[in-house]
Amino acid sequence: LLEDSTVGLSLRVHEGIALIAYDQPGSPVNTLNSRVGPVFEQFFLRIEQDAAIVAAVLVSGKTDSWIAGADIEELQRITAPVDGERLSRSGQLLLDRLAALRKPVIAAIHGAALGGGLEVALACHHRIITDHAKTVLALPEVQLGLIPGAGGTQRLPRTVGLQVALDLILTGKNVRARKALPMGLVHELVHPAILLDVAMQRARQLAHGDRSAVRERRPGLVERALEENSVGRAIIFRKARESVTKKTGGHYPAPFAALDVIERGYRESFAAGLLEEAKRFGELAVSPECRQLAYLFFATTSLKKDTGLPAGQNVAPRAVHKLGVLGAGFMGAGITAVAVQAGTVVRLKDGTVERLASGFKAVRDVVRERLVKRQITRVQFDDTMSLVGGTVDYRGFANVDLVIEAVFEDLDVKHQVLREVEETTPAAIFASNTSTIPIRDIARAAKRPEQVLGMHFFSPVHRMPLLEVIVTPETSAETTATAVAYGKQLGKTVIVVQDGAGFYVNRILAPYLNECGRMVDEGASIEDIDKALVQFGFPVGPFTLLDEVGLDIAGKSGPIMEAAFGPRMQPSATLRAVIASGRLGRKARKGFYRYDADGKRQGVDDSIYAMTPVGARRRTLPVEEIQQRAVLPLLNEAVRCLDEGIIRSPRDGDIGAVFGIGFPPFRGGPFRLLDTMGLANVVAQLDALHARFPGRFEVAKLLRARADRQQPFHP
Ligand code: NAD
Repeated sequence: LLEDSTVGLSLRVHEGIALIAYDQPGSPVNTLNSRVGPVFEQFFLRIEQDAAIVAAVLVSGKTDSWIAGADIEELQRITAPVDGERLSRSGQLLLDRLAALRKPVIAAIHGAALGGGLEVALACHHRIITDHAKTVLALPEVQLGLIPGAGGTQRLPRTVGLQVALDLILTGKNVRARKALPMGLVHELVHPAILLDVAMQRARQLAHGDRSAVRERRPGLVERALEENSVGRAIIFRKARESVTKKTGGHYPAPFAALDVIERGYRESFAAGLLEEAKRFGELAVSPECRQLAYLFFATTSLKKDTGLPAGQNVAPRAVHKLGVLGAGFMGAGITAVAVQAGTVVRLKDGTVERLASGFKAVRDVVRERLVKRQITRVQFDDTMSLVGGTVDYRGFANVDLVIEAVFEDLDVKHQVLREVEETTPAAIFASNTSTIPIRDIARAAKRPEQVLGMHFFSPVHRMPLLEVIVTPETSAETTATAVAYGKQLGKTVIVVQDGAGFYVNRILAPYLNECGRMVDEGASIEDIDKALVQFGFPVGPFTLLDEVGLDIAGKSGPIMEAAFGPRMQPSATLRAVIASGRLGRKARKGFYRYDADGKRQGVDDSIYAMTPVGARRRTLPVEEIQQRAVLPLLNEAVRCLDEGIIRSPRDGDIGAVFGIGFPPFRGGPFRLLDTMGLANVVAQLDALHARFPGRFEVAKLLRARADRQQPFHP
């Protein structure tokens, strides 16, 4: 037995097989930090030198994690590119040594093998994984602004072929167990109960040169024709660069670095590829993009542990076994779909059977997506769908734990359903999915206001990762804790915000959209504005967003925001005119843009310009001015939300903006961007804008105070 209990690694020899087990103490997952390298080194030496050992098997001691990747906190401490390069080189050398062992090493994988973890597996001689939902493989480094740094950029293409490897490395996507086998990423797929037995047996066979159980990947004809010659590969690389440029807008250096590094390995050699990999890894590790993405990773992780209650307050959430959903429309169906996928029994209610039927169809369509992608089996699909029951009265509601209402956006209707729920369900918590009505106004009709709060989902519910939980002064701790815990159970990142018009996310969005409308009032073109903000890093421009959300929905919130906050939230003349014209946006194939019958976008609808104060006369605004005028009010409003206690922290404000409206992740969120720009600089820009356009750019009190004190939002 060899053991290092401080890092959690042990090596035990059993009938000639060295069983290496990794079980990092005090952590739910295994990570690779600088302390495990030397221990592995020692183990490899032992395997090599001990004649009694013929092969090795590498297993994890965790229930659902094999090796989850590098220790990100350690990566964060890298301050100079050479340090990152050195770290990468040491990982590469260690895995080179593993790959070069003359005794076979078998990776016996149950749980996630991510990043450095998958790189370890790729360096092993044989990979067996379990057929289990928790077993996923990925090289997710680009999602943190990095590239694989322990040989992954070289080993993966040589294992699964260039095109598949690019798809995995450039997106960082997860590969589920069932897909990993046909892809050639692993050699065997087994039931978790027999993983260790199969691995030990295979170790013995491979040690004796018996490869009969090993299925080698055979590249198809097309793959060989394209990948096995430099002309074909040049085409693949060019296409990949084009696609990355299109998807990232050039804002993220990591995927481009990955392409360079992989190409170098093909052009020259594995060794040259490794050197390039280490160099680029070092450069990326200190890049601003990597810092911001790592920050968001930690912010998300800390929110996963957040109960939503003030520090020191400990109230257990109620378990939600059964959920009631009111309204089988767009949002109600979306909420139902994510709830049944999380295993909750749902009662869905609407006014008529016809509406229920269309809601059911929408639920089914969402769940079916996973069946089509083979993420679930037919049986699992049927089981999931069987969790939904429908009703046009409140049958089946008596024992629901939580009700989420997504009925029409109308206070009287909200009051009516609240009263009905309080009558029919003696104990349920009542959550509203309203996007604009203050929760306290809804709670006014309640007999149990302590059990009323907002759960604001974003559309489409199954794709958007954010949930805003809105509490009033009367909301009880148990109610809050339950909504937060249940939101997390649905897979959402949850921020808790205080009640107020627009809550947080829609409130910071409003002045941004309005200012974009003002620029159109002044003659700027819709394309120019959309383009400038996509260039800034938003996934879509403001007018595309308005068309997607629906102009009727946007139109409802405008007056509410203006009533609450005055002139700075007044929708522009153009926005008001376009909304009044009855255009609905993409769903009705008519908005700021034109659409064909299938909803495909055709270009700006020039007739919009007739609705602007300056008519068809257009002028060009500089990109910088568009970005400045659109984004600064958003940042300023975010600071107001912090000052008023709408959000609890800059962290929540950053997460809300990035996950709720697609604020560019590489900028870290509004508060991170404020810090990066420098608060004094932002204040000066806002003051200048305020002088030009009185009433809309007045600097938030807290922003000016912090700028004066030179106190950034993130220390
Ligand atoms: P929708 O019109 O698609 O659905 C509303 C459904 O509620 C309809 O099927 C209607 O028949 C049903 N309904 C009305 N009164 C009812 C009652 N008394 N009992 C049972 N069912 C009733 O609307 P939607 O877009 O799903 O919006 C619903 C809620 O979600 C609104 O409060 C809206 O502000 C909010 N919201 C919408 C979005 C969005 O993008 N659409 C995003 C976040 C929040």
